[in-house]
Amino acid sequence: MIARWVTAYLGFGSNLGNRLEMIRRACDLLERREGLRALRLSALRETRPQGTEEGPALGGPYLNAVAEVSTALEPLALLQLCLEVEAALGRVRAAPNGPRKIDLDLLLYGEAVIELPAREGRPALTVPHPRLLERAFVLEPLAELAPDRIHPLTGRTIRQHWRAFQGKEPGTRSGSVPMKEIHDAREAAGWADRVRSAGLSLGLVPTMGALHPGHHSLIGRARGECDRVAVSIFVNPAQFGPGEDLSRYPRTPAQDLQGCREQGVDLVFWGEAGGEGGVYPEGFQTGVEVEKLSRPLCGEFRPGHFRGVATVVSILFGLFKPHRAYFGQKDFQQARLLQRLARDLATGVRVVIGPTVREADGLAMSSRNRYLSPEERERARAIPRALFEAEEACRLGEDRPSVLEQMVLDRLRREPGLVVQYARALEAATLEPVPGDRISSARDGVVLAVAALAGKTRLIDNVWLR
Ligand code: AMP
Repeated sequence: MIARWVTAYLGFGSNLGNRLEMIRRACDLLERREGLRALRLSALRETRPQGTEEGPALGGPYLNAVAEVSTALEPLALLQLCLEVEAALGRVRAAPNGPRKIDLDLLLYGEAVIELPAREGRPALTVPHPRLLERAFVLEPLAELAPDRIHPLTGRTIRQHWRAFQGKEPGTRSGSVPMKEIHDAREAAGWADRVRSAGLSLGLVPTMGALHPGHHSLIGRARGECDRVAVSIFVNPAQFGPGEDLSRYPRTPAQDLQGCREQGVDLVFWGEAGGEGGVYPEGFQTGVEVEKLSRPLCGEFRPGHFRGVATVVSILFGLFKPHRAYFGQKDFQQARLLQRLARDLATGVRVVIGPTVREADGLAMSSRNRYLSPEERERARAIPRALFEAEEACRLGEDRPSVLEQMVLDRLRREPGLVVQYARALEAATLEPVPGDRISSARDGVVLAVAALAGKTRLIDNVWLR
């Protein structure tokens, strides 16, 4: 008999051990099986059991992803395979929601609807997964891989479900209107004024364009928390140093617009530096400096960069006066410094930090990744691997930041073609060294941050250690 191949979707989650390695190994084990092929993995997303606005919650964040597979296995055999992979990777099934090295869920199996109770020697199986529509960490990556797939029980597409989840379906939020595009800074300010005077909350997501799922996740978060969402797209010359990539910075306006539309954005503001309606008014001469937080890490290698960022974000805050503004953990120093700025200058803006979204192999998504040659791209994978190894060593008891930094440096220096600029584990609140070289004595969280050059491309990444 010729086997029938069916497209199925599996959910992965890990919050113990080397989380990146767990997901990678689970994929390897699955792919090695006969009757299973064409594995496509979504972006990796970090999910905090209880997120806070001041940064990641302490302890136990999950790394989540969804895989699309083509399989000749029957649903129960596929479930059995998932359980075997979990067992092979050392998962001990204890508390239902307890920490786990790896969790594999069968989310969808073709169009099948299955309800099998547990029997002796056979686990229960419900497909589609009963909590599929309740979990952002499943719906978002599933919508990335298979937006047009129909949920067999509801008859609606996964994209529709994801939008409904974010509350951005027409009619689900008050008076939703088509997306607007504005090029003139004062006009954008007028739009924002009208939103606020209507008593609506406003979220701002400042970007430099070439949008990817990392940006989309910030927009999605804003969408869930604010009545109106504005995205600014402005390649800000003031934050590029001489010899940096300002002139070749990627620009993908058509894709950016499509992404914004799909994410339910209300306004895209296309910033222009000068001229009438420009971000910088004629005769501009003000600079904003967040003194201490801009000194270490990237501050040492990109003089003037954070002054450029702080200045333009102050202008954007002044134009939009948003209730909330969204920045990524990937650029942790930037996000922290802007949190400080928002407080110091009494802007009234709540700065929210969203988790880093990663490529399937762990590399933090970045508009600059497209500069990488295939060989550089391959080498760049060492960066997240080194960080996740250090994260795991910390979880296993290594308490000295200096040792973890050295681990990362040693690992990255073994990778030909990578030039490390820094690997530092610092107090997350102040970006100062951890007292007494003991992570356990840190007042706040500790962040382990790396910058490295792969060829000419500068890459940064970080993980939260505690
Ligand atoms: P950029 O367009 O690179 O200036 O980034 C705009 C915003 O998106 C910043 O707040 C970044 O930190 C954030 N961002 C960029 N890459 C990612 C990522 N991989 N995950 C989450 N946020 C990101």
